[in-house]
Amino acid sequence: MSFGRRVQIKTDEEVEILRESSLLVGKTLAVVAERIRPGVTTLQLDAVAEEFIRDHGAEPGFKGYGGFPNSLCTSVNEAVVHGIPNDRPLVDGDIVSVDCGVLKNGFYGDSAYTFAVGAISPEVQKLLDVTKECLMLAIEQAVVGKRIGDIGYACQTHAEQHGYGVVRELVGHGLGRALHEAPEVPNYGRRGNGPRLMDGMVLAIEPMINLGRKEIFHEEDGWTIVTKDRLVSAHFEHDVVVRKDQADVLSSFIEIEEVIKKN
Ligand code: MG
Ligand code: MG
Repeated sequence: MSFGRRVQIKTDEEVEILRESSLLVGKTLAVVAERIRPGVTTLQLDAVAEEFIRDHGAEPGFKGYGGFPNSLCTSVNEAVVHGIPNDRPLVDGDIVSVDCGVLKNGFYGDSAYTFAVGAISPEVQKLLDVTKECLMLAIEQAVVGKRIGDIGYACQTHAEQHGYGVVRELVGHGLGRALHEAPEVPNYGRRGNGPRLMDGMVLAIEPMINLGRKEIFHEEDGWTIVTKDRLVSAHFEHDVVVRKDQADVLSSFIEIEEVIKKN
């Protein structure tokens, strides 16, 4: 996957279009969240998401991207990311990472949330909590004057403190008129290393954290990434604008978490 070379700085007008796209992804994930329960299939979730995206004047950002067949990436349990929706019903105790992209007014939104299906073990709930904490700690580093390595360092340190594996082969990215732009945003790194963060850079930050070891492999479907030790993996993603003192988070989990609380 090519991320391009040139880091683009977005104007304030472009940032507001990106915000609209990113917020639409959050609303789509909230609609998906309402449907998540034992017995539902990820293909059913995908259909709900696609309809919702099109009803809101946007295109699914992933469908057809590099040949990907669906609107959502749905990655269950040991699947890390890029899972293809299928007709296997979710069962009590599963977790499912739902990654969604939209294209609206020429700009992409890209956000992901990992959901519990029914009741999950405390051990797996802890992984979800810590992965989301990794995302928030990473976002704290997305400010003017820091470097890409500071984002990765914050994420990696927190995950490894809990004994989790940080996936190396897949990374966050710049976001704009393309779904994947420069720079790459690894979830591991060294402080003070890598490209300098500048005002107006838009980044999709997306920790992929494994309960066990960090190693992964590609499933035979050519898409799904799975942990080598077959232990579960979690994934959360926000779109943010690098700003002075504090990043501006464009996407939102608020509506998703209102649904989760209700269910
Ligand atoms: Mg994504
Ligand atoms: Mg992404």
